[in-house]
Amino acid sequence: MAGRLARLGLRRDVDFVLHLPLRYEDETRITVVSDALPGVAAQFEVVVVSCDIVFRPRRQLVVRARDDSGMLTLRFLNFYPSQQKALQPGARLRVFGELRDSFPGGEIIHPRFHVVANSDADSAALPTSLTPVYPTTAGLGQATLRRLIDRALARGDLTDTLPADALAKLGLPAFSDAVRLLHAPPPACVLEQLESRHHPAWRRVQFDELLAQQLSLRRAYTARRARGAPQLVANGTLTQQLLAALPFRLTGAQQRAWHEIACDLAQPHPMQRLLQGDVGSGKTIVAALAMLHAVEAGYQAALMAPTEILAEQHYRKLSVWLAPLGIEVAWLTGSLKRRDKAVVLEKVGAGDTVLMIGTHALIEEGVMFHRLGLAIVDEQHRFGVRQRLALKEKGRFAHQLTMSATPIPRTLAMSYYADLDVSVLDELPPGRTPVSTRLVSVTRRDEIIARVRDACRAGGQAYWVCPLITDSETLQLQTAEDTFAQLLADLPDLRIGLVHGRLKGEEKAAVMAAFAANQIHVLVATTVIEVGVDVPNASLMIIEHAERFGLSQLHQLRGRVGRGAAQSVCILLYAQPLGQTARARLKVIFQSTDGFEIAREDLRLRGPGEFIGARQSGLPLLRYADLEDAALVEQARQLADTLLTDAPAIAQAHLDRWLGGREEFLKA
Ligand code: ADP
Ligand code: MG
Repeated sequence: MAGRLARLGLRRDVDFVLHLPLRYEDETRITVVSDALPGVAAQFEVVVVSCDIVFRPRRQLVVRARDDSGMLTLRFLNFYPSQQKALQPGARLRVFGELRDSFPGGEIIHPRFHVVANSDADSAALPTSLTPVYPTTAGLGQATLRRLIDRALARGDLTDTLPADALAKLGLPAFSDAVRLLHAPPPACVLEQLESRHHPAWRRVQFDELLAQQLSLRRAYTARRARGAPQLVANGTLTQQLLAALPFRLTGAQQRAWHEIACDLAQPHPMQRLLQGDVGSGKTIVAALAMLHAVEAGYQAALMAPTEILAEQHYRKLSVWLAPLGIEVAWLTGSLKRRDKAVVLEKVGAGDTVLMIGTHALIEEGVMFHRLGLAIVDEQHRFGVRQRLALKEKGRFAHQLTMSATPIPRTLAMSYYADLDVSVLDELPPGRTPVSTRLVSVTRRDEIIARVRDACRAGGQAYWVCPLITDSETLQLQTAEDTFAQLLADLPDLRIGLVHGRLKGEEKAAVMAAFAANQIHVLVATTVIEVGVDVPNASLMIIEHAERFGLSQLHQLRGRVGRGAAQSVCILLYAQPLGQTARARLKVIFQSTDGFEIAREDLRLRGPGEFIGARQSGLPLLRYADLEDAALVEQARQLADTLLTDAPAIAQAHLDRWLGGREEFLKA
């Protein structure tokens, strides 16, 4: 039993108190059979007329019962002898269930029922509150759960954690009133208001939950801020040189973000900033400027990327930008030869190398920085929790910048990233022609192959992305190899390359380099190219079985083209039949190229839990509140800040109630 309860997170009294119903059943009144509506759950009081076991189509118990208005059939597909015994003719029952509409006369399958005394119809009083139905787990019945929750409500501490003036201002009910009502709502409660969770009692619980989340994240933010970090005071020589040498000018958004970052770096406490920007918005140059800033101040900087391809690409790009300034960039991944690695580590340890780029090898291979001032993480959500923790530890006293190409809608960012400051690149560099998107049935594959041939003959390059096959890397690899072979056969005059996750780091790098140098016309790829790859001459992207990809994935993939001046095209090949969600996704990606808008739609289609997925690994899901409830999130945010400054004891009590011992997990 303890195990089952633990599975539901139920340990302390307060956990039971906060285990709130999914829905309610109204057993406070009795419906006469002739008034029953199909599909609406209701309670009836009937007397059994007959009770038979029938064997067609399979063994089942069929009970006929009636009240003064009509007949009702109760059908049990599984039943105990004790039930059969209780259901003998003449027994008076209270039955709760939904009428199936297909049967004349009314039938309920597996109704909940109990026998009431026969002599006096009023002997069993009706319940005075709605019956809660709780989320539960196998082997733990509703009745047991109800009993445990009632006990917790009676003996648990329901004192309010919120100050009375705050409650009055927010117009919310007291905590004890709210939870008591939710566990046992009086029949006068509008069921609809309860179930849609708009009732004031629900608002109170939702607010509390959001407040706990805000308190926890804000406190983590403040705690990190309280630590010291080197004040990176820069003179701007290197950054000015780099800006002057660039073939382009920063966009307004890049300038703004760069300014915010430079200000943070000059503070005596660690920067904790997220740089968000759509695919192609130009995050890399901002990262390069930040790294140079650290170097000017006499510190080292490191940039970590989730895949070798991406790290390699950052490495190449930064080398090109920084070599003219006389700055050497070091490169570290797991696949580096031992001897080479030792050399790199040595130089980094001695402080001779100031800039480092790599994969998670940067935090895992015993790297000892001489004076790390800034750690940048690209696409942090693609790292595992353990790597994120290791990074936090390594960068404890360094400034941290996280970059993400998955734009997060504002309210979500406000709640989920309450422990970070956020800079947004909401503007694309000028001169891009938007990618045009086509939806094409896979039955027209031949036409598409012809199109690839034409595009490449005209000097272009193309990506051919193979279908995502979840749970089977082997199958995924096989389809990639099949596609590769087919394109080789169909396009004999073109050079075709293949890149996938099973290739060794250096093999991958070689293929990517050949594609970047236009020695390969068509790159057949699995989703390893999803993030960050930048080959401006590639202007055609084919995505096979596009219906299998998620929205943000499609957006990321499409972002691989449209990086040069040429008109780029993204062709989404799909196979029929399309499910409803797949259809909705393809429609969104077809209609919009704006990452923020796509993110909003993605959020709408998937809900915040899934959307935010990766970050969820450490964070408890919000059970009752809705992250899109901007007004409530904002109020929680404000009160959290006030409490943390003016009333830390109250903040602590509230956190204890809501998060108990779970807060540790939040730190990743
Ligand atoms: P992402 O934000 O997706 O990482 P990148 O940093 O790879 O984007 O930039 C995409 C491309 O745009 C690169 O080729 C980069 O050199 C170029 N770029 C970045 N900033 C500008 C700008 N202000 N004007 C023109 N091109 C730019
Ligand atoms: Mg990038």
